[in-house]
Amino acid sequence: MTSLSDLPLRDNLVGQQPYGAPQDTVAVRLNVNENTHPIPEEVAIDIVQSLAHAVTGVNRYPDREFVELRTSLAAYLGHGLAAEQVWAANGSNEVLQQVLQAFGGPGRSLLSFTPTYSMYPLLAAGTDTDWIPVERPDDYVLTTESVVEALREHQPDIAILCGPNNPTGTTLDSEVILAAYDAFDGILIVDEAYQEFDAEHESAVALLPGRHRLLVSRTMSKAFAFAGVRLGYLAADAAIIDALRLVRLPYHLSALTQAAATAALRHAEAMLATVADIRGQRDRIAEALTGLGYVVHPSGANFLLVGGFADPAATFEALFARGILIRNLSIPGHLRITAGTEAETTAVIEAITALGPGGARSAGE
Ligand code: PMP
Repeated sequence: MTSLSDLPLRDNLVGQQPYGAPQDTVAVRLNVNENTHPIPEEVAIDIVQSLAHAVTGVNRYPDREFVELRTSLAAYLGHGLAAEQVWAANGSNEVLQQVLQAFGGPGRSLLSFTPTYSMYPLLAAGTDTDWIPVERPDDYVLTTESVVEALREHQPDIAILCGPNNPTGTTLDSEVILAAYDAFDGILIVDEAYQEFDAEHESAVALLPGRHRLLVSRTMSKAFAFAGVRLGYLAADAAIIDALRLVRLPYHLSALTQAAATAALRHAEAMLATVADIRGQRDRIAEALTGLGYVVHPSGANFLLVGGFADPAATFEALFARGILIRNLSIPGHLRITAGTEAETTAVIEAITALGPGGARSAGE
């Protein structure tokens, strides 16, 4: 059998690890920031009816321009957006990949502020784009000054500001976005995968008018409880959308995806009904773990980055043994926990409490 190292792989993929969050089917899965609540039954029924209708037409290719879905997404985003300013793909990962295909590539660069979403460097490698990580300060909060300084120094072709930031939960102020936009000439992406959970910040979609290099990326995978369907989207100037058309594969959004997403958007309110509860569960975890002496970083998302674990890997394993999956992102002393249903949240709080101060330690320590 051949191994990966025997293959003539592209240089910039050698030594890379694939995205690999564990997918074990334990009872309490709080590791990939999904909305763990099932979708409402009446919405599920409407989606199934839409799918049934769509299935009768799958002998034909789907609408390549997915106009109905884009119109629904534009209406959902508001701010007077037209369908021409909205794009979508199979998850915001694919949207981001298309942006890199169109505006990155050999001799070009992507900058972001780390720790941040682990897919950014992988998307850069996959499109042969140079990856420029700039470290966040200890509190992970981006300031206008530090962002402007990094963008002026590196002049990247593309920069991504993730707000709220995965994995830290840190929110992002409009002033930082505006200053970043003016600090360089490249494409500025604001990744708003968790925007609906952030009760305090308005979407960067409000900043789009007059800023043709600003792209706002969103997803139905998180608050919208639709991760399994794979639907991410983007709002930007119509010319940006024209650029993405150059790299997308023909008919990249299946008729079934389009039908399911369009149907779900008809029920946006019901789909988002759990957001307030999830925020409450997040705050429960924060309060409980702060009380246990952990350092809980402020979060505007549906997850928390928690520091103060003596041995994060051992705690991860100890929770896993109790049927609870959280995320170890190899940030020293830290683990990330997604806020789940009330029962799931109770389970993770009780399990961490039972481990005692600082969590579990591996044998011999
Ligand atoms: N951006 C961020 C910040 C994320 O955390 C994620 C998912 N973990 C994504 C984008 C991609 O999500 P999806 O492809 O499901 O839309």
